[in-house]
Formats: sequence, structure tokens, C-alpha cells
Amino acid sequence: MQKSKAYDYLIIGSGLFGSVFAHEAHKRGKKCLVIEKRNHLGGNVYCEDVDGINVHTYGAHIFHTNDKGIWEYVNQFATFNRYINTPLAHYKGKLYNLPFNMNTFYQMWGLTTPEAVQAKIQEQIAQMNIGAPSNLEEQALKLVGPDIYETLIKGYTEKQWGRKATALPAFIIKRLPLRFTFDNNYFNDTYQGIPIGGYNKIIEGLLTGIACKTGVDYFEDRHYWDSLAEKTVYTGKIDEYFGYEFGKLDYRSLKFEQERLEIPNYQGAAVMNYTDAAVPFTRIIEHKHFEFGEQSHTIITKEYATEWTPGAEPYYPVNDRQNDALAKKYKTLADTLNEKVLFGGRLAEYRYYDMHQVIGSALVKVKHEFNPG
Ligand code: FAD
Ligand code: UDP
Repeated sequence: MQKSKAYDYLIIGSGLFGSVFAHEAHKRGKKCLVIEKRNHLGGNVYCEDVDGINVHTYGAHIFHTNDKGIWEYVNQFATFNRYINTPLAHYKGKLYNLPFNMNTFYQMWGLTTPEAVQAKIQEQIAQMNIGAPSNLEEQALKLVGPDIYETLIKGYTEKQWGRKATALPAFIIKRLPLRFTFDNNYFNDTYQGIPIGGYNKIIEGLLTGIACKTGVDYFEDRHYWDSLAEKTVYTGKIDEYFGYEFGKLDYRSLKFEQERLEIPNYQGAAVMNYTDAAVPFTRIIEHKHFEFGEQSHTIITKEYATEWTPGAEPYYPVNDRQNDALAKKYKTLADTLNEKVLFGGRLAEYRYYDMHQVIGSALVKVKHEFNPG
């Protein structure tokens, strides 16, 4: 049958989801057009080179996965360095290792053996009588007890999400490992690192040979953009796609305050979390440490969390019960468009995905699209 449109796929958004989908479709001989409303490609993994330092413009990004296939997939486009994420928590002038491990417990209580730490946590938990945890606060208290919760979790969490920890889902805190060994690795995954040369290398590799337009918002002329392709892949906010017809989903936004300092080393670590509610930002990123930089200057970024409002960038879905119920209604609607539009990524699926999960989700969609059955 004769095709009447210039492209097989219009891909809205050049983040990892859109770029992986475009790459795989292009590989299969499909004509793709990627449109991106920012003035650069890559979505939230985009980095900016500031005098030799790759600045993670949209917040610290550390690649980690347990999936060998996804690790090999990204390694097609970049070599990864040996960076292991070992952030610290800063609370009222004292530093604690993260995630919660024997170093943290030693710093908190001066205890030196796993047995003593486990007994301490048990003693703290026993006083509280928590059943099946129904929210983040209960989950955290049940895992580590009130000392760690009050010092390292409550303040950070309530700043990050702008909600009481009792109003947040328990799964969020389960992202962080809890260990009774002296191991400061923030992730449990087998594979981890930062792409040498920055994430832009991966995006450039994925989008080689594909038509891309930046500085273009799909919603400014959606009928025109739709008219160009047989099918659309949409990676923006799902509620926006449907004109907010069931109401607005909540998202968290961020404000980044970047500073250049003429010193070689500001905080000695890439990521320092500020867990005290009285400090307005959540973390300070010192970008050079992701790549063991030895420049004479440094770039730091303070990260402030805010509620998303129109015009701001949506970064995090807020997966509480109410928002998840609303997202489900949009998803049901999205499924009815299956023949014409595919929805994917953190914003369109409304899921707190990490990079490897977004790539995984895109590869699943690719499989359904090109090898159905
Ligand atoms: P995005 O990267 O958001 O891409 C969507 C793109 O669509 C954007 O570029 C947007 O501008 C564009 N778009 C939206 N609407 C339109 C429109 N109407 N018209 C045109 N273009 C549009 N993951 C990890 O694995 N490790 C980490 O350490 C990590 N740290 C993170 C830190 C922060 C602060 C944040 C916010 C996320 C972090 N992530 C991390 C998650 C990671 O960023 C995401 O999983 C991944 O980048 C999401 O890719 P995506 O393609 O779904 O979305
Ligand atoms: N968290 C915390 N204290 C910390 C770091 C994380 O309480 O010092 C909690 C907080 O609720 C946060 C969640 O753990 O939202 C997940 O942390 P992660 O580092 O995975 O967040 P992200 O990097 O995705 O913002």
C-alpha cells in the first residue's frame, strides 16, 4: 500500500525513551522524525561541557543496572568509567555515609558490629508497634528505626516531595539499600558507571542518521506534526496529551542553582545530600567527581525541589494512590489509541523510572511494535 506521509514515526521527546525507540525503528528501515521542545537533545540525561567538566544539567545521573542486555546496549555507544555512587548525607554539620550501612550505623551510634546494630534497631522498632507499613514514614521506621529516620530520611523526603512522609508511598524508600556490611555503594546492581565523555555520547549514537528538530513544542501545532507521520511515539506528560481532561497529575519539579568556583575541590564527593529540613536545598552536586576530574576549577549545583506548575519542567511523578488512580484513567484512554500512538517513558507512563528502566521499557515497546505475537 502506498504511504501518504513523509515519516513512519513522529517521536515527541528526545530523552532516552524517544531516542532508543527512534534508533530501533531507524535500524529497521523506518523513517523517523524526533521533535524536542528544549533547545538540545537528550532529555534529562543531557550534559553540558563547562571548560572540560561534564555538568549534569538536570541533576546527577549515575547509570546502574542488573540487566546484562541493557548494559551491553548502552556500551554500544559509550565506554563507562569506574564511578560508583557513594553519596554522603550532611545533617547539622555532621556527615553520614549512605545508603544505610555499617558506616552509617557506626557514625550514628558508635556501634561496630552487625549484631549490635541489629539489636539496636530491633530495640527501637519494638517500642513503636508498626504493622504492615502503609506509607513511607512507617516503612522507614520499620526498616531502620527513629534515629536514622529523623536524621537522614524525614527532612530530605519532605523537602523532596513537598508532602508529609505519612502521605507518601512506602516503595520510594525501598529504592535505597539497607545493609549490615561496611559498603557505601548506593546501588546493589551488578553494572554501574558514568559514560566517558558524558551521556550526550549515548544520545548522539542513538540518534545518528535520524531527523531531529529542537525548540519545537508538539502542542503548539499538534495537527501539523501528526499529519507528518503514520504513527506517533509520545514521551511527554500523559495528562497534557489528553488536554488534562480528567484533571492534572502531580509532578515534582526542580530548581538548579549552578556555581563555578576557582578551587579544585569543593566537597570531595559528587553527591552530598542535605537531610536537615532547615536547609532549603536537597543536595549539592560537584560534577567533576563523576569523572575524577583534575581541573583547577569546579562546578557545583544546588538542587531545590518544588511542586510542578505550568511552564516548569516536570521531573518526578508523584506515585501516591490518588495520582496513580488518575494516571490509570489516562492509561486506559491511551490504550484505545494503540494503533496510532505509543506512550512511553517517565512522564508518559507516569512511573518513577531510572534510566535502565526507561531503556527496558522502550525495548519492550519496540519488540511489540516490530515483532508482534
Ligand atoms: P525525559 O528525559 O524527560 O525526556 C522527555 C523529553 O520529552 C524531554 O526532553 C522533554 O523536553 C520532551 N518533551 C516533553 N513534552 C514535549 C512536547 N510537548 N514537545 C516536544 N518535546 C517534549 N536515573 C538513573 O538511572 N540514575 C540516576 O542517577 C538518575 N538521577 C536522576 C536525577 C534527577 C534529578 C532526575 C530528574 C532523574 C534522574 N534519573 C536517574 C531518571 C532519568 O532521568 C530518567 O529515567 C530518564 O532520563 C527518563 O527518560 P525519558 O525519555 O522517559 O524522559
Ligand atoms: N532519601 C532520603 N534521604 C536521603 C536520600 C534519599 O530520605 O539522603 C529518600 C527520599 O525519600 C528520596 C528516596 O529516598 O526521594 C529515593 O532516593 P533516590 O536517591 O533514589 O532519589 P532520586 O535520586 O531519584 O531523586
